[in-house]
Amino acid sequence: MSQAEPKGFFRLVVPYNASDTVSGVMDFRLTDDQELLRRSVREFAETEIRPHVVEWDNAQHFPIELVPKLAALGLMGIQCPEEYGGAGMSAIDYCICIEELSRVDPSVSLSVAAHNGLCSSHLLMFGNDAQKREYLVPLARGEKIGAWGLTESSSGSDAAGMRTTATRAGSRWVLNGSKTFTTHGRVGDTLVAMAITDRAAGSKGISAFILQKGTPGLTPGRKEDKLGMRASETSEVLFDNCAVPEDQMLGDEGHGFVDAMQVLDAGRIGIAALAVGLAQGAYEAALRYSQERRAFGKTISQFQAIQWKLADNATRIEAARLLTYRAAYMKDRHRRMTLESAMAKLYASEIAVKAADDCVQIHGGYGFVKDYPAEKFFRDVKLTTIGEGTSEIQRLVIARELLAR
Ligand SMILES: Cc1cc2nc3c(=O)[nH]c(=O)nc-3n(C[C@H](O)[C@H](O)[C@H](O)COP(=O)(O)OP(=O)(O)OC[C@H]3O[C@@H](n4cnc5c(N)ncnc54)[C@H](O)[C@@H]3O)c2cc1C
Repeated sequence: MSQAEPKGFFRLVVPYNASDTVSGVMDFRLTDDQELLRRSVREFAETEIRPHVVEWDNAQHFPIELVPKLAALGLMGIQCPEEYGGAGMSAIDYCICIEELSRVDPSVSLSVAAHNGLCSSHLLMFGNDAQKREYLVPLARGEKIGAWGLTESSSGSDAAGMRTTATRAGSRWVLNGSKTFTTHGRVGDTLVAMAITDRAAGSKGISAFILQKGTPGLTPGRKEDKLGMRASETSEVLFDNCAVPEDQMLGDEGHGFVDAMQVLDAGRIGIAALAVGLAQGAYEAALRYSQERRAFGKTISQFQAIQWKLADNATRIEAARLLTYRAAYMKDRHRRMTLESAMAKLYASEIAVKAADDCVQIHGGYGFVKDYPAEKFFRDVKLTTIGEGTSEIQRLVIARELLAR
């Protein structure tokens, strides 16, 4: 990670005296480069994704054909440094990319977020140089697709209650068990999976491993048939005496769970950005429709009841975006942001649910059918209050952080 102070959003401009914080002003503008990035990703999403959204959703098709195009824009290695094949962008740049994909198709955005923000991020944060060169570089270049397995059928929120084990056998570790709800569990080439290496040590007895598709004993399980986010593939992963060399342990032995929690602190900024982008897409669809649909001799946008919905959603989206960019700003400066990322994820996901609900309501009966994008936003959005920690878990994290101060 670059140690240089990134420029851009939340630049603190202090015009008179650097020690005089009262005279300092916050500059909330994006840089010209960030504006350009937003325009580029928006144009890409409109031309390469928008025409296929309904088809991919209906067929529950993971668009593997899109991956080289995502890679050409740097979207498969957004925050990965250039020396490891990535685009070397900042956390705020990352939010812009995720938002713009989500505004058009939240499920493509979820796949990009899981690849970048879970699998690649874990390798970047805790891998050694050799592991980064071997496993991270092809992920960042989009030559391989990443997956990350923490959740099991009997342990989601209580992730440390996992059952998958890794037992030492000479110079190898042998994994047995299974993961559930793994994004890219079937299409993924590289999987980072957590397993118990010392049951007596509880959460400090969990380690992370890098697994490659095709390793004997590693098989994809059932693909989930989902309510929403249907173009993002989610499946089980099974380990049956799956042996990996010891140099495929990622991070220190017994640190896998603690490291995973840090990965999630950062990953949640991505889910917050995904929720902001989804809310933005739903809001724009509702605004557009309200200016077209006529009732009682006027467009429905002329009714105050509709205007208030639009005003409330636009305001909440801006607030969520600010919370999200603040968490990203702190990440860019290598500051601890457990509290800020949980707040951003909680708020952004819950206001996105409201934005999608209002989008359906403003569309009336047309919000309930597949001819308009409203019903898809309504289905997709629910994942944002569940994935990478439910809203209840975000509140628990926030309260724990507040009480510890
Ligand atoms: C589409 C999709 C993609 C996913 N991708 C991945 C992935 O790539 N990798 C991965 O590892 N996981 C992934 N997940 C799993 C996801 O992170 C979990 O589903 C989530 O953390 C919740 O766990 P759970 O489903 O076991 O629910 P549970 O933990 O069983 O929770 C059920 C309910 O109980 C509540 N609850 C639980 N504990 C508490 C508590 N202490 N206090 C208050 N309420 C509580 C929860 O908030 C929830 O409302 C994915 C899930 C989905 C749906």
